[in-house]
Amino acid sequence: MSHSEPNCLDMARGQLLKAAEKLALPQEVCEILSQPMRVVRVSFPVEMDDGRIRVFIGYRSQHNNALGPFKGGIRFHPQVTMEEVIALSMWMTFKCAVVGLPYGGGKGGVVCDPRELSPGELERLSRGYIRAIAPFIGPHKDIPAPDVYTNPQIMAWMMDEFSRLKGYNAFGVITGKPLSLGGSLGRKEATARGCFITIREMAKALGLPLKGARVAIQGFGNAGSIVAKLLAGEGASVIAVVDSKGGAYNPEGLDPWKLAEYKASTGTVGGFPHSKAIDSQQLLTLDCDILIPAALENQITGVIAPEVKARIIAEAANGPTTLEADRVLQQKGVKVIPDILANAGGVTVSYFEWVQNNTGHYWPEEEVNCRLEQVMVRAFRETYEMHLEQGVDMRMAAYMVALRRLYEAMRLRGWLGTEER
Ligand code: NAD
Repeated sequence: MSHSEPNCLDMARGQLLKAAEKLALPQEVCEILSQPMRVVRVSFPVEMDDGRIRVFIGYRSQHNNALGPFKGGIRFHPQVTMEEVIALSMWMTFKCAVVGLPYGGGKGGVVCDPRELSPGELERLSRGYIRAIAPFIGPHKDIPAPDVYTNPQIMAWMMDEFSRLKGYNAFGVITGKPLSLGGSLGRKEATARGCFITIREMAKALGLPLKGARVAIQGFGNAGSIVAKLLAGEGASVIAVVDSKGGAYNPEGLDPWKLAEYKASTGTVGGFPHSKAIDSQQLLTLDCDILIPAALENQITGVIAPEVKARIIAEAANGPTTLEADRVLQQKGVKVIPDILANAGGVTVSYFEWVQNNTGHYWPEEEVNCRLEQVMVRAFRETYEMHLEQGVDMRMAAYMVALRRLYEAMRLRGWLGTEER
C-alpha cells in the first residue's frame, strides 16, 4: 500500500506551486511549505515474547504549525519511509487548512509488520515509540491519531504511556481513542459522513437529485460501507461495490445494510445474492452518476480516466487519482471532489475529540454530527466558489483555499518578514 505513496510528495508540492502561482503569493511561502519544519527519527528497543530485544525505527514528521499544533496519524507498516511520512504530513497541513481546523500537519510511522507481532509485543512497541517521541508531542504541540494498521486500542496504550511520563491524564495528546478513554461519538462514521456531505452539496450545485442517483463504490470498509448507507438513506441507488476479494453489481440497486451483513459473514461482497460479479476496473468505468474510490491510492489512472462515465468523483481514499487522470477528468468536465476535502471529516471529528478532552465536556452524537455538517458545508462552499471564481478544478481550488489560510497565518506571525520594512 505504501510503496507508491512518495508520489504524493511530488503531487502535493506540484499543487502547492501551482496554487501559490495562481494566488500570486511570495516565493517564500512555497519555500517554507515545501519542507517539514521538523522530522524526528527514533530507534527504540522492544522486548519480544521470547526474551530477545529487537530495535525498531520510527519517524514523526511535523510539517507546518502556522495554524495550530501538528496533527496526523501514526502508521505501522513494513514499508514506512521518512519520505512517505514527510509527504503525508504535508498533505495533512493542507487537509486541516482547507476545512479551517486550528491545526497544522504531522504524520508518524514505525517500520514493522504488526501482523507478525503478538498483542503484548504490539503494546510494548506502541509504548516504546511514544517514549521515544514524547519530547516532541503533546496536547498543544503535536497530536497523533490512528492510520494504516493502528487502531483505538493502540491509541489507548500510547495515551496511557504519555500520561505516565507526565504524571497526569493527558487524554488530549492523541485522538481516535476508545469511547471510554475520551474518544468521541461519531468518530467511526466521520470520514464517510464528511464525504457524504460533500457529495450531497456537489449534487445540489449540479442540479443532480440524490434520489435515484446511481452510485459505484470501490472499497467496502469503514469509509465505503458507511457512505453507501448514508447515500442509500437519501434515496440514491448503490449499483456496484468491490472490495479486495470480489465485487457485486445490480443495476436495480444493492441494499448496503444487507451487503454489510453479507460481507461480515463471508469476508467479501462478491457473490452477494441477486448480483453479478464485477472487478475494480469495470466498476471505475461503469455507467453511473457518482463514483467513490474508497480503497487505495493510484486507482483512477490515465488509462481508466477516458472511460469514466460518472459526473461526480468523491475521493474518500487518499490519492486515488493520478496526475494524468486528473487532467483527463478535468477536460471531460467530471467534478472531482479532492481527497483533502472529501475525506476531511475524519480529522474534523478528531479535532472535536480533542476539544472535548481539553474542556472535559462530552457532546452527544447529534452535536458532533451537526458541527461536522457545518464545517464540511462551509469548506465545500468556499472551495466550490473558488473553483467558479478562478476557473480552476476543485482540487486546485481546495489547495488555494488552504494556502490562502496558511499564507495569512504565516504573514501575521511574521514568518514572511516585516511588512513595514
Ligand atoms: P478499510 O481498511 O476499512 O477499507 C478498505 C476497503 O478497500 C476494504 O473493503 C478492502 O477490501 C478494499 N480494498 C483493498 N484493496 C482493494 C483493491 N485492490 N480493490 C478494491 N478494493 C480494495 O479502510 P478505510 O478506513 O475505509 O479507508 C479507505 C481509504 O480512505 C484509505 O485510502 C484511507 O487512507 C482513506 N481514509 C480513511 C479515513 C478513515 O477515517 N477511515 C480517513 C481519511 C482517509
